[in-house]
Amino acid sequence: MRIGYGWDSHEFKSGIPLKIGGVILPHNKGLGGHSDGDVLLHAITDALLGAIAAPDIGSLFSPSEPKWKGADSIIFLQEALKRIGNVGYSLVNLDCTLILARPKIGPHASAIRARIAELLKVSKDVIGIKAKTPEGMGTENAAIAHVVVLLEKNKPKQSRSKSDKPTTVAAKRS
Ligand code: MG
Repeated sequence: MRIGYGWDSHEFKSGIPLKIGGVILPHNKGLGGHSDGDVLLHAITDALLGAIAAPDIGSLFSPSEPKWKGADSIIFLQEALKRIGNVGYSLVNLDCTLILARPKIGPHASAIRARIAELLKVSKDVIGIKAKTPEGMGTENAAIAHVVVLLEKNKPKQSRSKSDKPTTVAAKRS
């Protein structure tokens, strides 16, 4: 088993769509950033990468590279997913907490959950979404995401020979 943790924050800006967890939410401001500013997908990407001790999102997709300008954050998430698969791990479950003043996440939580499950190729039963308001934190103009993931090593694929048949093993020992 491996645990991964990811954190991200983005500032609200006018004139851009608000994307959280790969879903466009109705709001008068979006999240600024070099890419599409999807704070939740960035935190998930870092949690997955962190779980396998891979380089983080900023190292793999540098904000100084023009090619990631306005990039769809799904690209980052898919790279992280590919990397955990390459080293033989699968996602067991994911839990996240969003901290933002507006908009209310409750009405959209189900859609975000379904979208994340689809992107990560898991059941939505293993995706937890929670949201809080930043009371007393003074971060009303930002969205923050905390994410933890649990990964499990894939079972080795066994052929139906030798070790699967105790009688054969017993025969060899005798
Ligand atoms: Mg980010």
